[in-house]
Amino acid sequence: MAKRIYAFGGGTAEGSRDMKNELGGKGAGLAEMAAIGLPVPPGFTITTGTCAEWVAAGEKLPRGLDREIRAALGRVERLTGKVFGSRGNPLLLSVRSGARVSMPGMMDTVLNLGLNDEAVEGLAARSGNARFAWDSYRRFCAMFGDVVLGMKPERKEDRDPFAELLEAKKAALGVRHDHELPVEALKALVGEFKEAIRARKGIDLPADPFEQLLLSVGAVFRSWQNDRAIAYRKLNGIPGSWGTAVNVQAMVFGNLGEDSGTGVAFTRNPATGEDEFYGEFLVDAQGEDVVAGVRTPQKVSEMEARWPEIARQLLSVRSTLERHFREMQDIEFTVERGTLYVLQTRTGKRTGLAATRIAVEMAEKRLITREEALLRVEPEALNHLLRPIFDAERKAEAIRGGRLLARGLPAGPGAASGRVVFFAEDAQAWKARGEPVLLARHETSPEDIRGMAAAEGFLTAFGGMTSHAALVARQMGKVAIVGCEALSFDYHARTLTVATATGPRTFAEGDWLSIDGMAGEVIEGRLPTRPSEVVQVLVERSRAPEDAPTYRRFATLLGWADQARRLGVRANADQPDQADASVAFGAEGIGLCRTEHMFFGEGKIGPMREMIVAETEAQRRAALAKLLPLQREDFAGIFRHMAPRPVTVRTLDPPLHEFLPQDEAGVAELARATGQPVARVRERIAELHEANPMLGHRGCRLGISYPEITEMQARAIFEAACDVAAEGLAVRPEVMIPLVGAVAELDHQAATVRRVAEEVFRERGRRVRYLVGTMIEVPRGAVTAGKIAGTAEFFSFGTNDLTQTAFGLSRDDTGPVLAAYLEKEIWPVDPFVSIDREGVGALMELAVRGGRAARPGLKMGICGEHGGDPSSIEFCHQLGLDYVSCSPYRLPIARLAAAQAALREKAAARPAAKAAARRRTPRRPASRRRPRGKARRARR
Ligand code: PEP
Ligand code: MG
Repeated sequence: MAKRIYAFGGGTAEGSRDMKNELGGKGAGLAEMAAIGLPVPPGFTITTGTCAEWVAAGEKLPRGLDREIRAALGRVERLTGKVFGSRGNPLLLSVRSGARVSMPGMMDTVLNLGLNDEAVEGLAARSGNARFAWDSYRRFCAMFGDVVLGMKPERKEDRDPFAELLEAKKAALGVRHDHELPVEALKALVGEFKEAIRARKGIDLPADPFEQLLLSVGAVFRSWQNDRAIAYRKLNGIPGSWGTAVNVQAMVFGNLGEDSGTGVAFTRNPATGEDEFYGEFLVDAQGEDVVAGVRTPQKVSEMEARWPEIARQLLSVRSTLERHFREMQDIEFTVERGTLYVLQTRTGKRTGLAATRIAVEMAEKRLITREEALLRVEPEALNHLLRPIFDAERKAEAIRGGRLLARGLPAGPGAASGRVVFFAEDAQAWKARGEPVLLARHETSPEDIRGMAAAEGFLTAFGGMTSHAALVARQMGKVAIVGCEALSFDYHARTLTVATATGPRTFAEGDWLSIDGMAGEVIEGRLPTRPSEVVQVLVERSRAPEDAPTYRRFATLLGWADQARRLGVRANADQPDQADASVAFGAEGIGLCRTEHMFFGEGKIGPMREMIVAETEAQRRAALAKLLPLQREDFAGIFRHMAPRPVTVRTLDPPLHEFLPQDEAGVAELARATGQPVARVRERIAELHEANPMLGHRGCRLGISYPEITEMQARAIFEAACDVAAEGLAVRPEVMIPLVGAVAELDHQAATVRRVAEEVFRERGRRVRYLVGTMIEVPRGAVTAGKIAGTAEFFSFGTNDLTQTAFGLSRDDTGPVLAAYLEKEIWPVDPFVSIDREGVGALMELAVRGGRAARPGLKMGICGEHGGDPSSIEFCHQLGLDYVSCSPYRLPIARLAAAQAALREKAAARPAAKAAARRRTPRRPASRRRPRGKARRARR
């Protein structure tokens, strides 16, 4: 039977940091800290495997676990000198969840466990502090009531039932903070809490401490299955099978008076990444008070003045932890009567801005390698560096105009404007209607997670930089302001009142507000946003790199990524400005120029429509003749911007319905342009109607029906290529034929392209090197890739269509299916976002094998949206593709994801290579072993 319990404390530990899978992140961190001699209260961790047993047994604790818990408790009693359940010197416990990866606030915790009506008196006598004992007891009753007995708010307008009783008590006594409540009030509260449990649940709070403990362990396991934990797992791709560990640990008390306190800190600033000790603490409080954001705490940097010795010890803990873990840590600590304890350490969550800075600075200081630095930044987190900020002018104008309403703590960087809503469900509903929203709450709780995901940003009245709202904002990359104490809410009236310098201002649901998550400012109305520093340097070129430290770190990291990756990166771009941005973000070419998109521009849609509704070849050729110079100019622009890089131009692939006029004015305009009666144009549009345009007259089918379209496009491409080459630039066009399922389709189109190329080269007296290739985007194309490669000089996977056709699900109609399938976990992720490796991926693999067998060295890439998705990029790397192509703003993400794929592959190969080397070298007696390295070279 696998070991279920791992003890720690007293300078030793049975577990270690490498046992996150078994002990969860928190358990592994506690074990490691205990083993390296940091002051950790003793305790034990019940494994995640035990949680799996609990689930398998129908939510029952496995047989024998109670005996194992008793034995482990004995060790904690010996180390603390206290006795669990005793009257005279009671040991109190914390019971905390802890999954493999941190899921902040998503699961449950019970603190001060072991108290009952007798033990509380013992605790009061022993500590000499009755207020503390009763404060602990009221906290225990509330937590146990909530977590174990399920005493939750009944309606969305309600607050937590225990919090309501607490607020009522404070209001009745006219005090503002919890710690101002006198002993008698706390005693009364305990009675009221117990009565509330009896009234709602019909049971008494159990008095037996061991029963409390077993029930709490079960409740923590159960919290793995609660709604918010499930929602969080879905958002973060965490498997449900992992389970949570339970950490049972001796309590230490931060609420023992003015020489006690509790806090949380990051070893570096989690918002900016600056190398400073960054955290908050509360005097005379327990940990939950900081995390829940009930009181707004003091900065750790202010601790020096109050507790110089503790501040010194904390700084030493900071450097020990950073050196030991070689990573930014997020710690929880408690000071009990002048003694410091560390209760948790874990890898600190951070914004993308901070992640980049920390990784680059740690690598530059050689605390970690460049490879480690690359693996430490989530590719998606680079989005944070590309996030918009408010236009400084407009913001200054708003502030001068008196629209600055309040200031709070800047918890999530970036700038967001939206219509204010007060409930998480409303945020989801408004977002679904296409409205940008800001979620404003008194404080956020983990229950709000879905609403937070839907909002552009959020705003809370309470809480510090390490409160739940702040952590989640940073992780999601949301703009957020917390601890904005000028706000008060009337949830029933759905209003928000801000106490401003000029008096209270009230805002109703739906009013526009803007928040600056860098400065912590709440501004009335809607403000336009401006591009980030990186975008200002790279795209707008309005800022010099020397004045842009964030840009410089971004460029350093991506420079390292470029050295590490094997996959090439290209952009999907069809306009000269997009080509420009692509080069700025590191594109090595264009992987997809959708020529139909070029017709969305000014003056081009008319001839395009004329071409589509043409009824004879002559009419079509007339319309095409108008399009030719426009296309040629566009291509020339793109070739110039991209030279000397390759540009893949795809022949026309328009879902026709996207281009035809929908309104009367458009129809009339088309009638005028074509010289046809309006009625006839309407009829023609009706004839062109397709039941499923996504699977209709698209792609090469169009070029086969009307070869003159492909002829015109080929002519525009090669004339532009010759013109630009004549300017002395290197042009590398690659003509790509879409939606090919049979080699005969490609043969037909390729012949046209090659014929026109020769004509143009003859006319212009100049040749340009070019390729003709195809998209692999229908299953038949993938299956017959070997034949297709006989003609195609390159493949590009169109995984948007390949996913659509492999699943038999129209790209235009995924909405309702997707919602149900993700909800019911039929699909783990949206296959239109992340490649379905098992199905679509298998088709790609088939095509890669077939294609390369027929044409060794065949160039292959991907240009579906998946080309910008990190998991899909890793898959493309594993398939051995040559490049990925994605939208310009995803290029940095693609570069980093491609580097990570290469590094992970290298890391995975290392043990295998070592094992192979061991197999090749049979062990010999020491005297006959071959000397290594220096000694061996010396003998030669
Ligand atoms: C694709 O199908 O993946 C593709 C890139 O083409 P489009 O999205 O234009 O159909
Ligand atoms: Mg396609």
